[in-house]
Order: sequence, then C-alpha cells, then structure tokens
Amino acid sequence: MQIEHNKAVTFHYTLRDDGGVQVETSRAGSGQAYLHGHRNLLPALESALEGRVAGDSFTVTLSSDQAYGPRREGSIQRVPIKQLSAPGKLTPGMVVGIRGEGGMRRAVLVKVGKFNVDVDLNHPLAGRGLVFDIEVIAVRDATAEELAHGHVHGAGGHQH
Ligand code: ZN
Repeated sequence: MQIEHNKAVTFHYTLRDDGGVQVETSRAGSGQAYLHGHRNLLPALESALEGRVAGDSFTVTLSSDQAYGPRREGSIQRVPIKQLSAPGKLTPGMVVGIRGEGGMRRAVLVKVGKFNVDVDLNHPLAGRGLVFDIEVIAVRDATAEELAHGHVHGAGGHQH
C-alpha cells in the first residue's frame, strides 16, 4: 500500500541538523505515526513520503526555509523565572517552556539571572537545514474517527 492522502503512516526517523549533530530520533520507541495529507508534518517532509511503501528507507534534506525558517534578530526577551516551565536546573542552551496568555511557548535559554532569564524566542531549529533518515514501518487506511480528528490514534500517534 502506497502513502497517499488519508493513509495512516508509521515511520522511524533520525533527525540531524546540517552540521551533522543528531537532534532527535524515534528509534527508542515504536516510531512516529501521522495522517498523510493533513499537515501533521513539515510540508516538505510529507511530500517526500508521498508514494512510499512500508520497508522504504531514504534520506530527506530540508533547507531552513522548508523547516523552521530563518533566525530572526531581536527575538531575545527577558522573562521572570516564575513564568518558566523547565526540567531541572536552568542552564543556558536548554529549551524551556514559557507560560503566557496564549498558552505555552518554547524558547531557548540564553542567560540566567536571579529573578529573570533572557530567552531566544526563535524556534530552536530556526536557521538550520535538517536531514531526516526515514524508514517507513507501516501504511494503512485511516479510520473514520482518525479522519474526523485529523490525526492518527494509538502507538506513535495521539493518545486520548
Ligand atoms: Zn483524536
């Protein structure tokens, strides 16, 4: 079965940036599941998966424009530490959550002070090209419920 609109797809990936540094991998778990044609993935990555079948392995290279866009200057902001959600000790370079009116945003910690921190609101991968090593694990028809929700349920997908 080929990957096309409304297929539920499970794949493994290892993501490196254009400097060859590994950013993340699905290899520790059961893989990433998504609903094809519903913008669950970066559009350029989804296009590269179109027409593939289970067992296919390939590499997809995205420019920063196809990924998370250019880094924008002037994106450093000072925020109170009490607004942060962070795993453990605050260390420059770590990705933290900032609680605000619009919900939680992710940012990279730049500088840590006593009561405030400076964070960079650029996406952590902004300005970087990305290289995905992909292995397609499974392709199936999505259920009516998955199509209604616009995402895949079960292992590697939404759990709710
Ligand atoms: Zn759902």
